[in-house]
Amino acid sequence: MRDKLTRSEIASAAGTETPQAPSAARKIYPIVKYGDAVLEKPGAPIKIFDAELEQLTEDMFASMYAAQGVGLAAPQIGLSLRIAVVDVTGGKNPEARIVLANPEVVHAEGEVREEEGCLSIPGFRGYVLRPQFVTIKAQNAKGETFEIRGENLLARAFCHEIDHLNGILFLQHLSMLKRDLIKRKIKKLRKQGEW
Ligand SMILES: [Zn+2]
Repeated sequence: MRDKLTRSEIASAAGTETPQAPSAARKIYPIVKYGDAVLEKPGAPIKIFDAELEQLTEDMFASMYAAQGVGLAAPQIGLSLRIAVVDVTGGKNPEARIVLANPEVVHAEGEVREEEGCLSIPGFRGYVLRPQFVTIKAQNAKGETFEIRGENLLARAFCHEIDHLNGILFLQHLSMLKRDLIKRKIKKLRKQGEW
């Protein structure tokens, strides 16, 4: 005997419908790793805001949470498009979910040097100088334009994801010495079939 009702059983018992359950099965995309050309070319602007795009952003959130990231850009799942998702709470607060379609920085202020990583460059981190505050103008999954201000980690996440949409990785912000060291290590991992 089962001790739990399914979602639809609860819905029918309550006389309500659940047209689209938030926990509906999502596609978890594998994350593209450094070395794939898609990560180093600018994405194409998003022009069509339809159900398919909304589905994509939901799948991107799911893929980001599965990889335990705080941001994910479309090129990181192999799609050369100007769209990214950010949630610095790691899924704890649904209101912290931010979709950035065609984002651009409209204002930046201050400087913070902090350690940064990237889902596409797993196992490596580096100190990157970023603005302390940024104001971003972007469109949401419905195509509505909005502005949002981020501070510290959120500002960093916005800048990191916008960089992705321009084909830029955090490695490019490191000293040549540090960057070459990481690249050499990745090359070695790739030879060993571990990348
Ligand atoms: Zn990244």
